[in-house]
Amino acid sequence: MNSLARQFAVDLEVDVRESERLAILDSYAILDSEGEQAFDDIVQLACAICETPVASITLIDHDRQWFKASVGFGVRETPREEAVCDVAIRTPERLLEIPDLQDDARTPMRPTDAAGIALRFYAGMPLVSPEGHALGTVCVLDHAPRSLTEAQRRALGALGRQVQHLLELRRYVLQQGSILQQRLAEAERLESARADLQRRHDDMKRAATYDALTGLLNRTALEQLRQRPDAMLRLEAATYSLAVVDIDHFKQVNDRYGHLIGDEVLRAVAEVIAASIRQDDIAVRYGGEEFLLVLLATPLASAYEVAERIRQSVMEAPLPFPVTVSVGIAAATPPRDTPEKVFELADQALYRAKAGGRNRVVADDTQRF
Ligand code: GH3
Ligand code: MG
Ligand code: MG
Repeated sequence: MNSLARQFAVDLEVDVRESERLAILDSYAILDSEGEQAFDDIVQLACAICETPVASITLIDHDRQWFKASVGFGVRETPREEAVCDVAIRTPERLLEIPDLQDDARTPMRPTDAAGIALRFYAGMPLVSPEGHALGTVCVLDHAPRSLTEAQRRALGALGRQVQHLLELRRYVLQQGSILQQRLAEAERLESARADLQRRHDDMKRAATYDALTGLLNRTALEQLRQRPDAMLRLEAATYSLAVVDIDHFKQVNDRYGHLIGDEVLRAVAEVIAASIRQDDIAVRYGGEEFLLVLLATPLASAYEVAERIRQSVMEAPLPFPVTVSVGIAAATPPRDTPEKVFELADQALYRAKAGGRNRVVADDTQRF
């Protein structure tokens, strides 16, 4: 490798290391942060211990030095080329002490205090991250050339370590905060996925249970109810009635007015039915234009009244043309009759209602009451 290439390789390595150093410095999120008592205390201690009028906790940013805390400086930052601390961080492992800045080849900088008076003496302890990067210094400066005592050097070293502890604590708190944020975000994501799943489950359950067009229970739901012992117990606790409601000449409605109007009629009849029964009763869209009503604890005479009310309300429903229904009803006296038997009787009664001219309620007459 020629010397130019070697120099290039060295420069490149320096650049990489410097960008790593800046990335680490960023991870403390300390640049341009507010003043903090703990850091202020340390610069006060540095001045007191080293007997200097000026001290600072300096961080070396890309193109400036920034003071987290300082005594005796009038500014919060200066350009990097004016930073003696930038020289100090080149030897991260030790304190840099310069008895006279004006008399040292390494330091062309001419720092001044808040009053603009030149500072000649400098001692800076590098702040080194656990990753081995020097981030800045805790340093003291004085107007006259001088030196520190051995005890003062040790104390400045100890203060440097204290500052580094504070920095690590700050970074730890930040990291915990961001971990917490991530966990919260993750928990939120999980919760929303769970809610989504629940919604889909509810939708599917509703679709499996309710008829989409009329909102009444569908036939599957009726079959499920039939399988449930508790539902059967409630059904058979007292005489109940079944009513089968069938729209008259519904095929003609579809043929004449189209399926959409047909659907509207279906919805209107379903609304009449839902409004005519009690809360505990069960209304099912049993077939295309056929509805089954389970009227709990209702003898045949009362079922007749309910069915008659439905028949009349359908005639009065606000539809663009007259619509009528026929209804067959039958009552059960459990446990003699199974629900299937009662349904058969109601269906036969419905058949007679159709045969008798439609738009009427016919009660099963095969049983004694
Ligand atoms: P009847 O008075 O003897 O009951 O005659 P009907 O025309 O009502 O009876 P039929 O059983 O011949 O015809 C029922 C019609 O109901 C046929 C079918 O196209 C229609 N239908 C079934 N389900 C739907 C639906 O969801 N929407 C619409 N618009 N029509 C339906
Ligand atoms: Mg019909
Ligand atoms: Mg029918």
